[in-house]
Amino acid sequence: MDCIFCKIAARQAKADIIYEDEETVAFRDLNPQAPTHILVIPKKHIDSLSACGEQDIELLGRIQAASAKIAEKLKISDAFRLVTNNGAKAGQSVKHLHYHLMAGRRFMWPPG
Ligand code: AMP
Repeated sequence: MDCIFCKIAARQAKADIIYEDEETVAFRDLNPQAPTHILVIPKKHIDSLSACGEQDIELLGRIQAASAKIAEKLKISDAFRLVTNNGAKAGQSVKHLHYHLMAGRRFMWPPG
């Protein structure tokens, strides 16, 4: 499958990887939208959050737990945003589940 995030997870494509465990990888976004902008992904290919099934519930928890751990490591635990864009109309451009972990600026609500 020609998936750039699968390639990054398999170290077949370059990325600034800042965290890895058995099931997840995190790396810096190429086009950062905040002073800190990390993408947290499962190693397993899943198209999006909507494509997850019962079998992925534990993995989804692990991604969130990994995100909190990364935030602690980067000293941004006091203020960060964790978000996934699900579907093209919601802004998803890469069809491999990923969470944007962003910090270092003020975030508006509702988001744009
Ligand atoms: P989304 O638009 O929610 O699907 O987010 C995809 C994100 O992946 C965007 O913020 C892109 O800047 C980022 N991105 C795409 N390709 C790469 C890459 N090779 N390395 C790092 N970030 C990437």
